[in-house]
Amino acid sequence: MTDRVAKLSPFEAIERIQDACDRTIERAVRNHQPPVTCAIGCAHCCRQPVFITPLEGLAVYDRVTRSLVDDFAPQQIAKYLKELESRPGAVDGVGALKTNLQGRGPAPTPEQRAAVYGVNCPFLWKKTCIIYGARPLMCREHISFDDVGKCKRDVPFFGLDKPMFHEVSAWLTRDLPRNHSLFPVWEYEQAAEVVPDRMYSSRELDELLRWKIGSQP
Ligand code: SF4
Repeated sequence: MTDRVAKLSPFEAIERIQDACDRTIERAVRNHQPPVTCAIGCAHCCRQPVFITPLEGLAVYDRVTRSLVDDFAPQQIAKYLKELESRPGAVDGVGALKTNLQGRGPAPTPEQRAAVYGVNCPFLWKKTCIIYGARPLMCREHISFDDVGKCKRDVPFFGLDKPMFHEVSAWLTRDLPRNHSLFPVWEYEQAAEVVPDRMYSSRELDELLRWKIGSQP
């Protein structure tokens, strides 16, 4: 059996998607004019809510359990939720963002967006992502060629055209109930739990990546 028809575990599938994501983005930004304005230590985009598909939850779960001290992630998440819940309208805002991303509800109102923006992601530590190698596709795709202050202020900016990796991951878990297809990143454990117990065809995945994003596996 050649690699092109190999069966991939969910973990191997998300790794392959992440690799394709990184390679495609590297190609897109290499000689881009104007150049990328993101820089180490700029973490404005890490103060916006991030959503993951179950496959990504698996990658985050693996990273957390393999490389962080036991209580660190739960403590960070508890701190995050406490801050979020102290903001009027923030919990509703996260729900509105999620249903909108799932195509099940209208765009969040400016008030709902304002309520949820500005809280540090639980995985942001000293302006660094502590799950960087496993960070969600939504984070990988967030590249600015514009004034980074726009990321801070949650206003539209000139960035990468969305290569839709998130959509690829969602497609691979398409047989899950709708409300199990997307989670806030801090619910990575629940996300990882609902990954279907099946193997993915590497050929199907490569074809999907080519069709959706023009990636060359
Ligand atoms: S997961 Fe990492 S890159 Fe994504 S928002 Fe959180 S800290 Fe930032």
